[in-house]
Amino acid sequence: MNEGPQRKIIHIDMDCFYAAIEIRDNPSLADKPVAVGGTAEQRSVLCTCNYIAREYGVRSAMPTAYAERLCKDLIVLPVNMSKYKEAAKIIHSIFAEYTHLVEPLSLDEAYLDVSGSTLFNGSATLIANEIRQRILEKIKITASAGVAPNKFLAKIASGWKKPNGLFVIPPKDVANFIEHLPVKKLFGVGKVTAKKLNDLGFVTCADLHEVSLTELTTQFGKFGLQLYEQSRGIDNRPVEPNRTRKSLSVEQTFHKDIHNTEQCIAVINELYQRLMNRLKNCDSELKIKNQYLKIKYSNFKLTTIEKISSTPSLDQYYNLLAEIGLNPTCSIRLLGLGVHFQLPQRQQPIQHKLL
Ligand SMILES: [Mg+2]
Repeated sequence: MNEGPQRKIIHIDMDCFYAAIEIRDNPSLADKPVAVGGTAEQRSVLCTCNYIAREYGVRSAMPTAYAERLCKDLIVLPVNMSKYKEAAKIIHSIFAEYTHLVEPLSLDEAYLDVSGSTLFNGSATLIANEIRQRILEKIKITASAGVAPNKFLAKIASGWKKPNGLFVIPPKDVANFIEHLPVKKLFGVGKVTAKKLNDLGFVTCADLHEVSLTELTTQFGKFGLQLYEQSRGIDNRPVEPNRTRKSLSVEQTFHKDIHNTEQCIAVINELYQRLMNRLKNCDSELKIKNQYLKIKYSNFKLTTIEKISSTPSLDQYYNLLAEIGLNPTCSIRLLGLGVHFQLPQRQQPIQHKLL
């Protein structure tokens, strides 16, 4: 399936990280629904919530006001970023003891390439378990891990037995695992795309094996290649220790396409709140270079427009919308807002294949 020697990738993901830290520091919260985020009065969204809150349908990135309607007893705690960063530092120092090939995805999530490790006779499964154990001993919160021959499968695996779980997809099981995997589990497949795929008769990855790459790219543009590869368990991206974030964006795909400027402005208002929240949680070293707006039409044609800006503002996104010039003959299926960051001086640009 993959060219070259077999890789051993571990994806580690802390279980409801911010909420877990808050509960650790106040054990009386352990049996209550707990979330971390801004208040309803500020029209904020939640960063994360514990598993008790999830039973009520509460989710991360959900507006706090809506979450409080779903779960009347929800305890919403303010974000205490310095505390989470302190814990993350210790977690990442544990990772570094096992391999120098660590690619952090966020404070509480990372890929580790342990292909070259001789620990436990090279068993990535035993390495993953020891890392989870050590995090629990040191930070007193749980992590889940996925072990697989590539990043995409390792990430799916870490979510498979959450919370406090370990799931391994050994190379010999990849074909069988992927066949049964629902397409909605693939990266880049949100609710709307999942529905489109299901309507076309693609429910599991095995269903996608029936169509050619050409057919998929005709239906889904560039994303067709990702669907083709992911549905076959293929992902040749290396673990990149020095990868720095180049951009941050939020977007919405519509259940029903939208058509006019007024509708776009309403969506921009909402997305802007989400973007600001995500930016707050970003590495403070990152400097914003510009802000951009993207629109995908119902024919899958993508248009992007950007403007130099070191501090993004809502007005500037309105200006970008005015400048982009909506195509009056085509409805809009997706709208997104984002920022690009300046590259650090020491860093050479690296091309990343998006997946
Ligand atoms: Mg997590």
